[in-house]
Amino acid sequence: AKKQGRNNYQFYSSDLSQTTIERIDIERSLRTALQNDEFLLHYQPQVNLETNKIVGVEALLRWHRNHSEMIPPNRFIGIAEDSGFIIEIGEWIMQTAFKDAVRWNTGREEPISVAINLSSRQFIHNNLLNSIKHLLKKTHCNPAWITLEITESLLLSDSLHIRKTLKSLDSLGFRISLDDFGTGYSALSYLNKFPVSEIKIDQSFVQGIADNNDHRLIVQAIISMAKSLGKELVAEGVETAEQAKYLLDCDCKVVQGFYFSKPKTFDEIDI
Ligand code: C2E
Ligand code: CA
Ligand code: CA
Ligand code: CA
Repeated sequence: AKKQGRNNYQFYSSDLSQTTIERIDIERSLRTALQNDEFLLHYQPQVNLETNKIVGVEALLRWHRNHSEMIPPNRFIGIAEDSGFIIEIGEWIMQTAFKDAVRWNTGREEPISVAINLSSRQFIHNNLLNSIKHLLKKTHCNPAWITLEITESLLLSDSLHIRKTLKSLDSLGFRISLDDFGTGYSALSYLNKFPVSEIKIDQSFVQGIADNNDHRLIVQAIISMAKSLGKELVAEGVETAEQAKYLLDCDCKVVQGFYFSKPKTFDEIDI
């Protein structure tokens, strides 16, 4: 038993250093990823269930490390945030999404909203507003075409700087969307203290619709709360017709998920 314990310990400790090595490795490759042009945005359509039309897309970052291996965002966004690279990468994401929003929306009657995920680190960095204004000018993008997705944790910090930044972004004409809603410390009071125009129902609740009565109740509660506060709604992670039907029956019209489309490149999206 003693010997086994020692082997286990060795296994555990080499496992830990494996994680550390991977982190260091990813951080090192991130350093050159931008200049090597290794990033790409994919876009996932958001569909209005009543009209069957695409009303928006969410930009999702893709990283082809060394132009070969695909590293999913969950494996590198956190590292990019901790190391500070997210500031530069975030600017590339915004610039690319702004340009694509211009390509989609120029001459179009009903605008397509392009949603961009913003990390809290980008807000804490005090240059966000200036760099956004600069990018708007450079790309000729209309802020009304852009939705900025933030998470509840950003609102929880409740700092004056963040409140002011969100207010300015709202005044510029951006839409603000609260991502992963229901998974954080969703205090209702936050919703009216900040200029949030849209709530995204987290995919964990959507995926529980078929077999989890609590999740059905949570989905209903979020929808009725959003309505009474005058917020728009998007449900994410919709994978089945049944989930889509339930959401429409609850009067949540805009949905996003694999049932409709995976994230795709700009050229692959037909709008
Ligand atoms: P998120 O913002 O909640 O994005 C939704 C994630 O769910 C995406 O994963 C998307 O591909 C996936 N998804 C969409 N439909 C379905 C579905 O029907 N079923 C399931 N199971 N999943 C679905 P992805 O692209 O791997 O991104 C993961 C997370 O990484 C994102 O979660 C977001 O937090 C972060 N992320 C992605 N792109 C960016 C970015 O440009 N900037 C920042 N700061 N974070 C990003
Ligand atoms: Ca998101
Ligand atoms: Ca989400
Ligand atoms: Ca998320």
